[in-house]
Amino acid sequence: MNPMLHDPFDRAHLWHPYTSLTAPLPTYKVDRAEGCELVLADGRRLVEGMSSWWCAIHGYSHPALVRAAQEQTARLSHVMFGGLTHQPAIDLGRRLLRLLPPALDKLFYADSGSVAVEVALKMAIQFDPARTDFATIRSGYHGDTWNAMSVCDPVTGMHGLFGPALPRRFFAPAPTPVHALDEPWDPADFAPMARLIAERRDTLAAVILEPIVQGAGGMRFYHPAYLRALREACNAAGVLLIFDEIATGFGRTGTLFAWEHAGVVPDILCLGKAITGGMMTFAAVAATARVAERVCSGAASCFMHGPTFMGNPLACAVACASIDLLLANPWQSKVRAIQAQLAEELAPARAFPGVEDVRTLGAIGVIQLKHPLDMASAQAFLVERGVWLRPFGTLLYAMPPYVISTDQLSRITAAMLALAKTRPA
Ligand SMILES: *Cc1c(COP(=O)(O)O)cnc(C)c1O
Repeated sequence: MNPMLHDPFDRAHLWHPYTSLTAPLPTYKVDRAEGCELVLADGRRLVEGMSSWWCAIHGYSHPALVRAAQEQTARLSHVMFGGLTHQPAIDLGRRLLRLLPPALDKLFYADSGSVAVEVALKMAIQFDPARTDFATIRSGYHGDTWNAMSVCDPVTGMHGLFGPALPRRFFAPAPTPVHALDEPWDPADFAPMARLIAERRDTLAAVILEPIVQGAGGMRFYHPAYLRALREACNAAGVLLIFDEIATGFGRTGTLFAWEHAGVVPDILCLGKAITGGMMTFAAVAATARVAERVCSGAASCFMHGPTFMGNPLACAVACASIDLLLANPWQSKVRAIQAQLAEELAPARAFPGVEDVRTLGAIGVIQLKHPLDMASAQAFLVERGVWLRPFGTLLYAMPPYVISTDQLSRITAAMLALAKTRPA
């Protein structure tokens, strides 16, 4: 292995996500990134098809985001949020309230997506401490912290490994997958969740799920009518509804937020990932006044969470710049164009013997294979073709920055087809 590209110190000492430290998968050293390209340490350029896991919607090193970060760093990079506030936090709040449903007007700034999920779950308990159960759907992903893990898919998530150390949650089957959000919908799809809510109506604090797109739990799309039925069932049972839009937020599915496909407003909403345009970690939790008032009228008289880097001014300033950049650009037609190109260029994979399914929604394109890929060789295959994708299991997928060119996207789809074609039936 080329030591410049595959650093021996890194290999010996640094944990990377979901790989062994004693027999790790190879890592590729990145020197810098510009637009939709990563520049590796050996000078090779890769077209970025992952947006660094849903985040880098404007590509990399965008001058507007770099400028916002530099100016804010020089002025006030961080200050505690306890007893103090600052203009970037206020500016971001004003921007988010303009984008969110009017009912969701109380904001908590967290430091990562998983923490936002913890915050949402804690709010639901403080809302009514007599209710301590949570329900969700299978195939979900909500992060890697303790409670977030507990509502991830119990099979592909980490339940087996952590066993009884994880709190017990209640799972309905994942909604039936769809290829188009306007397909006919069979209400039987919702029956198991309806039953679950009815059976546990006195102890459920909330139902949490990713609206429309289940991301890391399987890259699955489901019908908006499911969410409408869920909203009604939660209302009838007095159970809070939490939407985790950490992956779907800021335009990825073709609407600014995935809840818009269903017109369903949750009680609590988690945002993260693309909120800073991928410049740094940050997340936000929006809640209704009803939730905030009940939380603050409980035993503690306040919400019991306050991370050190809560409301970090640097992240708030960059998030403001990222939202302004998004809204100043025709993101909707860009995402539509990406969807059309992904749909057209990935379609031939349907005929490959090793391919189970091909699906696209917004700026997300998925080839699902019949058998899991070998990660290291798949990665090398893709890097050789000048693209950066990170397949997992049977899922070969892309969610590129919205600013990707048609030529760059074609390189990605060509590499996906080439890899899918080699897969066994
Ligand atoms: C990535 C993700 C999270 C966790 O966010 P982190 O910033 O990685 O902690 C939670 N929910 C969803 C839907 C995600 O995609």
